[in-house]
Amino acid sequence: MSRVYNFSAGPAVLPEEVLREAQAEMLDYKGTGMSVMEMSHRSKAFDEIIQEAEQDLRDLMHIPDNYKVLFLQGGASLQFAMIPMNLMKNKVADYIVTGQWAKKAYQEAQKYGKANKIASSEDKTFSYIPDCSDLPISEDADYVYICENNTIYGTKFKTLPNTKGKDLVSDVSSCFLSEPVDVSKYAIIYGGVQKNIGPAGMVIAIVREDLITDDVLPGTPTMMKYKTHADANSLYNTPNCYCIYMCGKVFKWLKKQGGLEAMKAHNEKKAKILYDYLDESKMFHGTVEKESRSLMNVPFVTGNADLDAKFVKEAKEAGFENLKGHRTVGGMRASIYNAMPIEGVEALVEFMKKFEKENM
Ligand SMILES: *Cc1c(COP(=O)(O)O)cnc(C)c1O
Repeated sequence: MSRVYNFSAGPAVLPEEVLREAQAEMLDYKGTGMSVMEMSHRSKAFDEIIQEAEQDLRDLMHIPDNYKVLFLQGGASLQFAMIPMNLMKNKVADYIVTGQWAKKAYQEAQKYGKANKIASSEDKTFSYIPDCSDLPISEDADYVYICENNTIYGTKFKTLPNTKGKDLVSDVSSCFLSEPVDVSKYAIIYGGVQKNIGPAGMVIAIVREDLITDDVLPGTPTMMKYKTHADANSLYNTPNCYCIYMCGKVFKWLKKQGGLEAMKAHNEKKAKILYDYLDESKMFHGTVEKESRSLMNVPFVTGNADLDAKFVKEAKEAGFENLKGHRTVGGMRASIYNAMPIEGVEALVEFMKKFEKENM
């Protein structure tokens, strides 16, 4: 068996320790004589799994008591509809469009009301985060929406927008648990877990309680009401049990690493290794304005598509997987989530240096 360094944007690398634990418990979870995949979501064993997972997440993020933690299906993409269906009381919302995912959310919201694009960075291929200190927030906006870390373009909000008192909704799929956050600044903070936490197929939505009501847009399906899932503690129907189990293990792993402060320090150290090299290299260049750089997703190019392709091919042969950039951007992208060890980033930079020397 040999593990590669997996730089995939998602589904992505998981901590090896967590995978080994899951492997050890595969056939017999804690004396139940069955795998978590085979067990009732109403069983005592699973009840402990989901409750512990929620508590560990609450501890990690210091989630205030007036927020519900929901384990939902449908991916982050379903939230693009669920958010307006549950929150658009005035049928107005303001969107800051900083990449494809924000754009998709913005387009989806247009089905349910008036979605305003109040800022965008599309003029420079989403390579920066616009100044959001004094935006034309709509008087009657039900919420302001951002995608906090732009997975495809590698940008991240370093300060939250000034929403002028309006509720903030944030998609944190690709920066979930990468650093501490102040949950109380958000109305909803949510993300698909397959980027930085667990396997694909689940979203965690942390929703302020006063937003969880029966007052949703007419026609909202039962399954798309936050209240349905909040009232049932995410067990209204069969949840993604195995994913909850795996996420729970990752939460415990994160606690063991020292929590989110420690992850932030670790992530900054890792990203610096790569960005420092990109800044000094004569061949490779980062594509993002320095002030907006993400700690999680690092896009870069040589400026020559043939050379990019050669690099991706040779990197793969050397055990560096999934470095090809998103199909809409080209070039390369290294996603260096929590579970990517620092050795992986160091080895990648060594490989890039060697490639640069050989191909200049
Ligand atoms: C991957 C991603 C999504 C889409 O996630 P799905 O679970 O595939 O729907 C949405 N937002 C961001 C920021 C992402 O990185």
